[in-house]
This record gives sequence, C-alpha cells and structure tokens, in this order.
Amino acid sequence: MMSLFKTLFSEKCPECKKTLVTDKTAFMNSIVKKSCPDNHYQKEYHPALETYVESNHVS
Ligand SMILES: [Zn+2]
Repeated sequence: MMSLFKTLFSEKCPECKKTLVTDKTAFMNSIVKKSCPDNHYQKEYHPALETYVESNHVS
C-alpha cells in the first residue's frame, strides 16, 4: 500500500515529463486526482477501490 502511494506521488506526465499536480477540486475527498499542468495526462486514485483511473489528452 505504501509503495502504491509512493508511485502515485512521484508520477510524471508521459508526454512532457512535468510533475503531476494535485487537483484540489476533486469532487470527493476520497479520490486523489493528479494531472499534468498542460493537461496532457490525468490520473485518479480511488482508495476505496484500490484502483487507478488514467486518461490522456484531457480537454
Ligand atoms: Zn504534460
């Protein structure tokens, strides 16, 4: 579990290699959303499901 979080918080955008930033507007506190500052990439972690949701080219 700890290694999962370490991976999450060290994530970088696969396109521009910028460090992902935490989105404070995530609609539930239980979801950690991180995204590229240039919106190439977005990643959500759902602790309740222990699941990542990744997407590219966020509009
Ligand atoms: Zn990027």
